[in-house]
Amino acid sequence: MKKKIYSHFMLVVTLAILLTMLSSSFLFYRIFKEQMYGDIRGYAQLIAQSELNAHMDWALYDSSGEYFRLTVIDADGNVLYDNEADADSMENHSNREEIISAWETGEGQAVRLSDTLNRSTYYVAVKLDENTVIRVGRDGSSVLGLYLHVLPIVLVVGILCWVICLLLASVLTRSILQPMQTLADNLDKPQTVPAYEELQPFLETIQKQHMDLLESAQMRQEFTANVSHELKTPLTVISGYAELISSGMAQDKDARHFAREIRENAGRLLTLINDILELSKLDSTSPGMELEHVDLYDVARSCVEMLDISAQKHKVGIRLSGESALVPGNREMLEELIYNLCDNAIRYNRENGSVEVSVLNRVDTVVLRVKDTGIGIPKEHQTRIFERFYRVDKSRSRDTGGTGLGLAIVKHIVSLHGATLDLESEEGVGTEITVTFMKAK
Ligand code: ADP
Repeated sequence: MKKKIYSHFMLVVTLAILLTMLSSSFLFYRIFKEQMYGDIRGYAQLIAQSELNAHMDWALYDSSGEYFRLTVIDADGNVLYDNEADADSMENHSNREEIISAWETGEGQAVRLSDTLNRSTYYVAVKLDENTVIRVGRDGSSVLGLYLHVLPIVLVVGILCWVICLLLASVLTRSILQPMQTLADNLDKPQTVPAYEELQPFLETIQKQHMDLLESAQMRQEFTANVSHELKTPLTVISGYAELISSGMAQDKDARHFAREIRENAGRLLTLINDILELSKLDSTSPGMELEHVDLYDVARSCVEMLDISAQKHKVGIRLSGESALVPGNREMLEELIYNLCDNAIRYNRENGSVEVSVLNRVDTVVLRVKDTGIGIPKEHQTRIFERFYRVDKSRSRDTGGTGLGLAIVKHIVSLHGATLDLESEEGVGTEITVTFMKAK
C-alpha cells in the first residue's frame, strides 16, 4: 500500500512538473514572439513613415546595432529592393503569408525557420501605398532554439521540485499510514478508535471476528474438557469391574452383575461417542446444505414408533396427532431432532404421565410440538439446557441414559433449518417444546 501511494503520488508530481515546464515554455515563446514582432513592427512603421529612399542605406542596422533585413515588393510580388540579396534574382513574393496579409489589412506578420533549426526569421510587412509593401525581417531564436536556451534552467528547477516532492511524498505516505499501523497493533482492544472514520466498519468486523474466534476457542477447550470428563466415569467403572473379574475375586453370581455393569457403561460410552460424532458432523455442516421436501408428520410417526417400547418401560403414554406437513429439510437430521425431544419427554416424565406429539400446518409455517406431563424445568435452568453437557439433574440424566448433548443437537439442527425454538415449562407440571419451520413451497 505504501509503495502504491508513493508511486501514485510521484507519478502525479512528475506529470505536474512536465506539464508546468511545457506550458511555461509555450507561454515564454509566445511572449518572446510578440516582443519580436513589436520590435520589427516599430521599425517597419518608422521606415514607412519616413522617406523610403533615404533609409535604404541605413536599413541594414537599427539604432541599437541590430541587423534587419529590408525588402520592398510591388503589387505583383516582384522584389524592387532587398538589402541583402540581388532584387532581380529573387523569386516572386506575392504568395508569402505576411505579404498577402499586408495587401489585405495593411499589415502582416510571419515567422519561418532559417537554415539552422534553432534560428527563425520573423517578418512584419506594411503596406506603403497602392503599389508598394515594405517588409522588415529579423533573425531570432526559433521555438526549438528557445527551448534549448531555457531547458537547462527548467531542468534544474524541475529536478529540484522533484526531489522536494520525493521527500514530501515519503513524509506524507508515512503520516497517512501511521494511524493504520497503530490501529493494526491495537485491534484486540475494544476501545480503539480508528483515525479515519472510513475504517470504522472494517474495524468493527475485525473486532467481531476476533471476539468470535476467542469465544469459539474457549468453547472448544471447554467441550474437550467436558468430553474427557464424561468419558472417564464409565471407563473407570468398566476397568474397575474388569479388574475384579480378572483377579478372580468375583464369584459366579457377582461376575454376572459385573458383566452387566460393564455392558451398561460400554453402552453409555457408545451413546456418548455417537452424540459427539453427531455434533461434530452438524458443526461442519453449512446452513446452505441441500434440502429435500420432508413430511414432518411421517418422521414424527416413525420416531414415536421407535420410542414405543421405551415409553411402555417408563409407564408413559405417547400419542401423535396432526396432519401431513412438508418442510424443506434433511430427513436424517429431522428424525434426530424429533427423536431427542420425544426421548426427553419420556425420560423426564412421571409414572402414568403422557407425551403428546403434534404436527400442524399454519399459513406459512409448520409447527412441531412435543408436550409432556413430566417433572418440568425450573426457570433458572431454562435458558441453559440447550448448552452442551448442561443437565438439571445429573444423576437422573445419567440413570436414564442421557449424555447432556441431546438438546444441543436439537438446537443445532433447528438453526441449520432456519427454524425457531420455543420452550415453555413449569416445574412439576410439564414441558412443551415448539419448533416452527418454514413451509415447503
Ligand atoms: P440429557 O441427555 O441429559 O437428557 P439433553 O440435552 O437432552 O441432555 O437435556 C438437557 C437437560 O435438560 C436434561 O438433563 C434435563 O435436565 C433437562 N430436560 C430436557 N428435556 C426435558 C423435559 N422434557 N422435561 C424436563 N427436563 C428436561
